[in-house]
Amino acid sequence: MASPSTTENLVVVGSGPAGYTAALYAARANLAPLLITGFQEGGIPGGQLMTTTHVENFPGFPQGILGPELMDRMKAQAVRWGTRLLEADANQLDLSQRPFTIQAQGQHLRSHALILATGARANRLHLPQEECFWSRGISACAVCDGATPQFRHEPLAVVGGGDSACEEAHALTKYGSHVHLIVRRNRLRASKAMADRVLANDQITLHWEHEIVALQGDDWLAAIELRHRPNGATTTLPVRGLFYAIGHTPNTGLIQGQLPLDGDGYLVPQRPGQPDTAVSGVFWAGDLADRRWRQAITAAATGCQAALAAEAWLTEQNLAVPVSRKTPEPEPAPTPPKVSPATEETYSPTALWQQGSYALRRLYHDSPDPLVVIYTAPGCGPCHVLKPQLRRVVEELAGRVHAVEINIEAEPHIAQQAGVSGTPTTQVFYNKELRQQWRGVKQRRMVRAVLEKVLSLGD
Ligand code: NDP
Repeated sequence: MASPSTTENLVVVGSGPAGYTAALYAARANLAPLLITGFQEGGIPGGQLMTTTHVENFPGFPQGILGPELMDRMKAQAVRWGTRLLEADANQLDLSQRPFTIQAQGQHLRSHALILATGARANRLHLPQEECFWSRGISACAVCDGATPQFRHEPLAVVGGGDSACEEAHALTKYGSHVHLIVRRNRLRASKAMADRVLANDQITLHWEHEIVALQGDDWLAAIELRHRPNGATTTLPVRGLFYAIGHTPNTGLIQGQLPLDGDGYLVPQRPGQPDTAVSGVFWAGDLADRRWRQAITAAATGCQAALAAEAWLTEQNLAVPVSRKTPEPEPAPTPPKVSPATEETYSPTALWQQGSYALRRLYHDSPDPLVVIYTAPGCGPCHVLKPQLRRVVEELAGRVHAVEINIEAEPHIAQQAGVSGTPTTQVFYNKELRQQWRGVKQRRMVRAVLEKVLSLGD
């Protein structure tokens, strides 16, 4: 692989609150950071907030904000000040040479300084139907999601036996009608004080030596099936919310063997509470080194610290090559285009991106071009990732393809007719035939390859 001709001042790996905050501060310091967003490794771009619904504890949003929208805003702010994004997974880091080298899906990069902000992923039980109920009853964060209206005055369950599980069970009694704590052993791992608090709370029922074996519900979780581990007896427990508190796994595979990790794989900071690591010029931010707080606001705070430390280090080492700005104030961040469902009056056969079943029907029947249909839901984080990718490809193909977005919450019957069971789902039609269909997020170049193939078949 050819060596890159330039060396970056600073590469940030990870696109959660820690990564974007670090990039924002570095960009404002004129370091023109490159942020590798991640794609599939360790979750989706934007991090854990992309799979959260309402975030009501991030200061500055008195009415709350959807997790994906908060991440869209952080991204726009970082980009506005000069962050460059590389939408790929970082596959390899080499911290043994300077500048450091990074491989990211075929791209070879060099950087003087690095901020590691790869986060952690909440462990999952990997039950059948888990994906379908994720954010539709199942959550990995009671602090973030507990107050969601759907959970109010409803029976809820927490699985796990550690401090997090106890803390979450206790916190959820504020919202739910009753809380069930599902513990796989006959004792809690939690600290004594925390365990006592749970045991003394008559709004919490402990289900000792039980495991969850199945989930039930339609569009929202309605019940869980429990198995008593010693005798195998199963029972059904009606609950509207299930909160996972079975530990987290930090995304530290990239630095294994290069930086000290603890027994659970968390990065060990060089000095407690400081952003530096055992390798000078490499800094950490966010959950990959934080097993305790794990909040968006604490991740953002460590992102800020890491960027300020990286800037100071680059200056001390005389390595920073600051960019000069044409104007002190960058252009305002573009506001995402608001598209309303097309009607007979507003429908346009030449528009590249429209919304709703009217546009779908018209384009499907009348348009000679390939038609991309994306099924989305308002709180769906992966939809936020996929939509701009799809939109850019449709724009790049300049009028040769048209796209329609169907909000499945607003038009469930259309999704049902199309056999769509989750979002995002993308379908590509040509000559009224379904040519391609996929579920979830795809990278832009893959989307483009799919559409070009369909176009070439039509030529
Ligand atoms: P822990 O790793 O301490 O606990 C995880 C719990 O999940 C354990 O009880 C474990 O069971 C259970 N578990 C793991 N896998 C499964 C599974 N597949 N099915 C069912 N149960 C499972 O994680 P926490 O997030 O609770 O805590 C992490 C750290 O943060 C700890 O050091 C904790 O003390 C700290 N913390 C402190 C708080 C406070 O002081 N206020 C609040 C929250 C966390 P088992 O016990 O059988 O292994």
